Amino acid sequence: MKKCHNLKEGPGLKECFKFFSGLKDSMESAERNDLLISWITISIAFAILLGDGFLGLASFVVMFPISLVTVGAGFIAHELAHRSVAKHFGAHAEYRAWQAGLIFAILSAFVGFIFAAPGAVYIFGNISRKQNGIISIAGPVTNIVVASLFGLIALANLGGIPDVIGSMGFRINMFLALFNLIPFGPLDGKKVFVWSKSAWFAAIAVAAAGVFLLPGFF
Ligand SMILES: [Zn+2]
Repeated sequence: MKKCHNLKEGPGLKECFKFFSGLKDSMESAERNDLLISWITISIAFAILLGDGFLGLASFVVMFPISLVTVGAGFIAHELAHRSVAKHFGAHAEYRAWQAGLIFAILSAFVGFIFAAPGAVYIFGNISRKQNGIISIAGPVTNIVVASLFGLIALANLGGIPDVIGSMGFRINMFLALFNLIPFGPLDGKKVFVWSKSAWFAAIAVAAAGVFLLPGFF
């Protein structure tokens, strides 16, 4: 990712292009399919939860594309962040969908909550506790960045669908950041907490503010 900062200079742009085409080449088609299936499934689940289930077909048809660009994109960005940082540290990292998780996501939506674990990035290789902490915090921090971008759309007050996308994208991505920062079990928060309590506290404070305080502003 570092290589992409200096875009004004010719060589920087070339390096950046090489980085992204490398990313494309290194992603096996099985992994791309798993990411795509997870993206669609999690978006269907949220469209069911936020609409009136499949029965309210009209609301589902409206909510599905909105879910694709808000929660679905946020989920994928989170996983790709883990993957990119792990690869940056020289580890082998691959996203794999989890079939039971995909099914639970849809079923739980009908009951009124989302069991949002359609898959995960699996990391192989020698990584230190610090590197593991940085790989782990990359996911929630990405959701906070994505949430902020949606927040700007919401603040632009364009009305209609853009307003819904902005506000929903902000809330859901801040929620994803906060949930994943819980320092428990297999969640990212535990690995961040074990690495650096101050980094963990800073990240969860921003995410908690995003979930509990900031939505009142728009
Ligand atoms: Zn994560």
